[in-house]
Amino acid sequence: MTDRKGFLQIYNTLSGKKEKFEPLHENFVGMYVCGPTLYSEPHMGNMRTFINFDLIYRYLLHLNYKVKYVRNITDAGHITNSAGDEVDSIGKAARMEQIQPLEIVYKYNLNFIELQRIYNLLMPSIEPTATAHIQEQIEIIEQIISNGYAYLINGSVYFDTKKYMQDFDYGILSGRKVDELENDTRILNAQEEKRFFADFALWKKAGQDDMQIWRSPWGNGNPGWHIECTAMSTKYLGKHFDIHGGGMDLKFPHHEDEIAQSCSSLGCNPAKYWMHANMLNVNGQKMSKSLGNFFLPKEIIAGETALFKKAYSADVIRFFMMQAHYRSTLDFTEDALNAAEKGYERLMESLSLLENVSCNDSSSLEIKKLVDSFYYAMNDDFNAPILIANLFEAVKQINLLTEGKITCTAEDKEELKNQLGGFIFNVLGLKGNTTNSDGKLNPVMDLVLDLRQEARSKKDWATSDKIRDGLAAAGIEVKDGNNETTWR
Ligand SMILES: [Zn+2]
Repeated sequence: MTDRKGFLQIYNTLSGKKEKFEPLHENFVGMYVCGPTLYSEPHMGNMRTFINFDLIYRYLLHLNYKVKYVRNITDAGHITNSAGDEVDSIGKAARMEQIQPLEIVYKYNLNFIELQRIYNLLMPSIEPTATAHIQEQIEIIEQIISNGYAYLINGSVYFDTKKYMQDFDYGILSGRKVDELENDTRILNAQEEKRFFADFALWKKAGQDDMQIWRSPWGNGNPGWHIECTAMSTKYLGKHFDIHGGGMDLKFPHHEDEIAQSCSSLGCNPAKYWMHANMLNVNGQKMSKSLGNFFLPKEIIAGETALFKKAYSADVIRFFMMQAHYRSTLDFTEDALNAAEKGYERLMESLSLLENVSCNDSSSLEIKKLVDSFYYAMNDDFNAPILIANLFEAVKQINLLTEGKITCTAEDKEELKNQLGGFIFNVLGLKGNTTNSDGKLNPVMDLVLDLRQEARSKKDWATSDKIRDGLAAAGIEVKDGNNETTWR
C-alpha cells in the first residue's frame, strides 16, 4: 500500500486551523481523550464524542500508525457544572442509591463497556482511573506550588491564575480572556476562599458529606477534576504528546486548565494538536435533560425513545453519525435516520453485488481514482461525510458493473473489495452483520428466540437477559411486542 501518512491534515483548536499532521515520533501517535465520569449512563451526545474519537483512532491505525490511545475514567473528584460550581456527582449518586461511590463507578463502567461493544468502539490502549493516580496528582500539585503558581488556604490548594497570567497566556486554547470572563462570570461570594474568580481547585479539603477522602501533604481531601487528566496523560504519554481530544464543552475550563497545570508544572503545553468533537442536536435543539429531548444509546436501538417511532440498529445509528463531520453539530431527526437506514442498506447490498460481478480481461473501472478519493476525504481532518459520499460513487460503479455497462479485471475487483471493506468496516467501524439477504439467519434466530421464550416462561430472567444482551452485542435488537417478539 502506498504510504498515505504524509497527507493527513488535522484541525488544531490551538491554532484555529488545519495543520499537516506530523507526530512527535515517526510512525507513533500518543493520543489522550477525556473519558466518562461514571455516575450515570452516558447519553447519546456523550456517546457521539467517543464514537468520533473511535473514528479518529481507527483511521490512524488504518494509516499504519502505532497508536497509544489513553482515555481516562473519572471515578473521583469534583466536576464543574454549567453554573461553574464544583459538584461531587459520584458521591451524590452514591448517597442517593445508598451504596459506595465505587459501586456506582463499577455499575456504570460495566454499562459503558457494553455500550462500546454495541456501538463497535475499539477499546483504548489503556483506561486509567483517577482513584488509582492520587499520588501522581499530589506530585504535580506539589510541583505547581513549588513553582509558585498555587496557594494553600484552609486545607485546599488553588491554582493562582493571576500569577500564571504574568508568565503564560491563559485562554490560549479557548480564546477567552480573563477580563472578558470577569464580565460574564459571577462575582466571588463571601463563602468562597479562593483569591480570584478564575482560580480553580487543585485539591479540596474534605467536606462533611464526602465519601471519598485521601491523605495529602495539605490534610485529608480530594483532587480537583482538571488535575487528574494532567497526571494521567503525563504518566502514560509523557509531558508533551501528539493529540489531546474531548468534547467541545471541555475546551473551557477543563482543557484550558489542563494547559495551565502542565505549563506551570512541566513547562509546556501537553499536546501538539488539540481536537474537539461537536455536540448533538435533536430536531434542531441541543440535546439536554431540561428540554426533555434527551435519550440513551440503548433506548434508541430498543425503540424506546419518545422521539422516534421505531428502533434503529446500532450499526445504522453509527452510520448516521458518521454522516456529519466530527466538528459539526449532528441533528437527530426521524427523516434523517430513515434516510440513513436506506443508505446503509444500499451500501451493504452493494458489497454482495460486487461479490457476484463477473470479471473481464480489460477494466474500465477507475479504481485508483476511487481509492484516492477515500483517502483524500479522511486525510482532510477525518471527513467521514465526504468519505461516505465517495463510497456511494463506488456503489454507482458497482451498479454499472452489475448491469454490464462497464467492466473490471479480477485484480481491480479484489482491490475494490479490499478497499471498501477497509473503509466501511475498519475505518467507519460498521459491523455490517445485521444484513440477512440470504435468509440463513432466520432459522437460527427462531431457535434463539424460542430458547429465550422458554427461559422467560420459567421466569429465568438472567438467561433471558443474557440472550437479549448477547444479541444486542452482535448488533441484533430484540423487541417484545404484545403478541410476538421481533428482531432486526
Ligand atoms: Zn480531561
